[in-house]
Amino acid sequence: MIGAPTTGAPGAAYGVGMRVLVTGGAGFIGSHTVIQLIAAGHDVLIVDNFANSKPTVINRLEAITSKHLPVHEFDLRDTERTERLFAHEQIDAVIHFAGHKAVGQSSQEPLDYYQNNLGSTFSLVRAMTLHGVAKLVFSSSATVYGANAAVPMNEDFPTSATNPYGWTKVMIEQILRDVAVAQPEMRIALMRYFNPVGAHPSGDLGEDPSGEPNNLLPYICQVAVGRLEKLRIFGDDYDTPDGTPLRDYIHVEDLAAGHIAALVRLDSTDRAVSTWNLGTGKGTSVFEMLHAFERAVGRTLPYEVVGRRAGDIAASYADPGRANTELGWSATHSIDDMCTDSWRWQSRHPNGYPDA
Ligand code: NAD
Ligand code: UDP
Repeated sequence: MIGAPTTGAPGAAYGVGMRVLVTGGAGFIGSHTVIQLIAAGHDVLIVDNFANSKPTVINRLEAITSKHLPVHEFDLRDTERTERLFAHEQIDAVIHFAGHKAVGQSSQEPLDYYQNNLGSTFSLVRAMTLHGVAKLVFSSSATVYGANAAVPMNEDFPTSATNPYGWTKVMIEQILRDVAVAQPEMRIALMRYFNPVGAHPSGDLGEDPSGEPNNLLPYICQVAVGRLEKLRIFGDDYDTPDGTPLRDYIHVEDLAAGHIAALVRLDSTDRAVSTWNLGTGKGTSVFEMLHAFERAVGRTLPYEVVGRRAGDIAASYADPGRANTELGWSATHSIDDMCTDSWRWQSRHPNGYPDA
């Protein structure tokens, strides 16, 4: 059994001045969250093996925050390294972003996905247990709502998945619920993100997918800078206002803010496990997103309507009511903000982050 949360820094019990371990802190969502944690008065340390990110992100984080960031470069599945980190560092809370996230790749390499996403979580939670760290915010996903066709989606919907990536999220959620039964002192937040997009307003941090992007906004970005010829719209014959599917796009800055709100809330909740949707509650179509991006760029972009993509559903958007009420959080950025910020990032860095 673990003890009470460690509260080394003054005020830690109230969610301020915590020392927060951010796993996957060099990644897209992690990097934006690091900036907001520091702005909110927390101390941050990062574990990342740079499997899907570049070390240069850290230099940018240090420039933006004017702070030196302790970065531990290793694979979280390394149980000994993970335990050593907890033995040597004071850690009050963990935000766990590290994991593989490419849906298509997960079907081709299922074992890698199960091994990495589950293995890193096992190693992390064991070390937390051993060293009395009780607060954990976990990056889950709206993908746990599976092929569920009802919208808006709320946290009480049954969970399932349509690909190995999605199953890793369903399984990790279950594993964490089981851990919380055995260790009721744990305070765990399962954050179910809808469609994260956007970039830091500086234009120096953003999404940098390796290879051809699978997701809509990164694809449009690369069409806009000329790296890709045209957007292929996967079907315009859905039962939606303009025939293209609806998704709940959320600015990464709003998402980051949701994590800070969850961390604070974990200090005052009696529940061992809390589940919160992070979404705007609004569905935006593919055409609406394309046109918003065209407004940001100031010109039209080439596209072609092709057949449906296997596995796509007509509509997915959140009921964010629980997060609004319990976290005092709501998304504030519009679709135009998301496109303007993504375009600033992509136009300043057409090829993403440099290697070094
Ligand atoms: P990302 O790939 O940009 O960031 C993940 C980071 O974790 C990377 O820096 C990677 O190098 C690191 N990492 C991966 N495996 C590791 C390991 N075993 N040890 C140490 N570091 C490791 O992804 P992101 O978009 O920032 O997503 C963060 C989390 O949010 C992921 O868990 C993802 O599944 C989840 N999520 C993302 C989205 C999305 O659309 N971006 C949607 C829902 C949920
Ligand atoms: N989409 C598209 N062309 C692309 C990528 C995505 O038409 O190149 C559509 C996709 O069919 C879906 C929406 O854009 O309707 C969002 O897709 P994304 O992969 O970004 O998110 P997800 O479907 O996983 O929520």
